[in-house]
Amino acid sequence: MTDPYVEEAGRLDAADSLAAFRDRFVIADPAIVYLDGNSLGRLPRATRDRLRAVADEWGEELIDGWRRWLPVGREAGDLVARIVGAEPGEVVLSDSTGVNLYKLAVAALDARPGRDVIVTDDDNFPTDRYILDGVAAARGLKVRRIGPGLDDGVRPEDVEAALDARVALVCLSHVAYRSGAVADLAAVTAAAHRHGALVLWDLCHSAGAVPVGLSAAGADLAVGCTYKYLNGGPGSPAFLYVRRDLQPRLEQPIWGWFGQSDQFAMGPDYRPVPAIERFLVGTPPVLTGYAALEGARLTAEAGIEAVAAKARSLTGYALRLADAWLAPLGFRAASPRDGRRRGAHLTLRHPSAWPVCQAAKAAGVVPDYRAPERLRLGFPPLYTRHIDVHEGLSRLREVAASGRYRDFPDDPKGLT
Ligand SMILES: *Cc1c(COP(=O)(O)O)cnc(C)c1O
Repeated sequence: MTDPYVEEAGRLDAADSLAAFRDRFVIADPAIVYLDGNSLGRLPRATRDRLRAVADEWGEELIDGWRRWLPVGREAGDLVARIVGAEPGEVVLSDSTGVNLYKLAVAALDARPGRDVIVTDDDNFPTDRYILDGVAAARGLKVRRIGPGLDDGVRPEDVEAALDARVALVCLSHVAYRSGAVADLAAVTAAAHRHGALVLWDLCHSAGAVPVGLSAAGADLAVGCTYKYLNGGPGSPAFLYVRRDLQPRLEQPIWGWFGQSDQFAMGPDYRPVPAIERFLVGTPPVLTGYAALEGARLTAEAGIEAVAAKARSLTGYALRLADAWLAPLGFRAASPRDGRRRGAHLTLRHPSAWPVCQAAKAAGVVPDYRAPERLRLGFPPLYTRHIDVHEGLSRLREVAASGRYRDFPDDPKGLT
């Protein structure tokens, strides 16, 4: 008996305009179905070559190499700008997502004196919530949390209801890390602007997965990492976006020499450059910066609209398989069913999600666990085929149907 879902995967893969990108990644063990590229993307072949080349440059050129290396953050930033719908000169690589969030949140709050409320959601990514709480505690501000459902994400009307003349800053994730639900960035931005607030978006699960459209929405500020869908590798630097007209009007709290105009004059006073570099602090991470550059180049080359269309196809196909095979085994979808409201991952709820996750790994499929009771399945479009989705979900079905997951411990404490 032929499996109609195999035929469907074959049809979809044969028609995939991005199929050739898979060969541009290192796939060390093709027997493993990797569904965790939303936490750490795969290694692009070009990155391996570039890292080797930059290491050689370091060996040969020593200090003179800096002339060549210094622009990497801006060069990669311009590529990321294309991917998130911003202009050249509005994005730069810098620090980690959390540090960038801190710098831009403080800069935004300073630009709204007299206002004392930050709006976020109580299901936002932990580092975002902790950093906003810390900023609020240090400045005597109040954090107002909206409470979206765990699986549906933030709705513009929830944000609207939390807005008033006290709100200085709204800080939200565009794609929710657990459910993959996509927030309406343009509607939330417009609502915040009507109330005189600035908005800071976290794009960690958006960049390289869905179109963001920062310029089209008139977005103020954003941050994101490069090691997830942009395939920048472990420890690759994050990026930050500041709309061009805001740049000279915002001042960030960490006055480092890389934000200084005429940096090597080593002058007595801090006078930040009137450009995106004013949000930098110190010496850039060159090796991981080149890794971020090569990773982002692949997504920019593929085009974010094509990448997002394939993400919708992969997650939609996965949802059909989950409904047919896994729902009868106690799984239910914990992501929006509307493909336009989903990022590039699909989350499934199951009371034994943690043991299932471990048993799945033992069976050669790598999902991710997120409390409470959720398996997160990531389908990065540049290297994931529909047939991989089929294989991954059929192994999950086998693990659940056989009850083999009961051999694995039930306590995820201390693990993420
Ligand atoms: C992965 C992720 C982060 C990570 O922050 P780092 O500072 O890079 O560790 C932050 N926010 C969201 C929404 C994420 O998914």
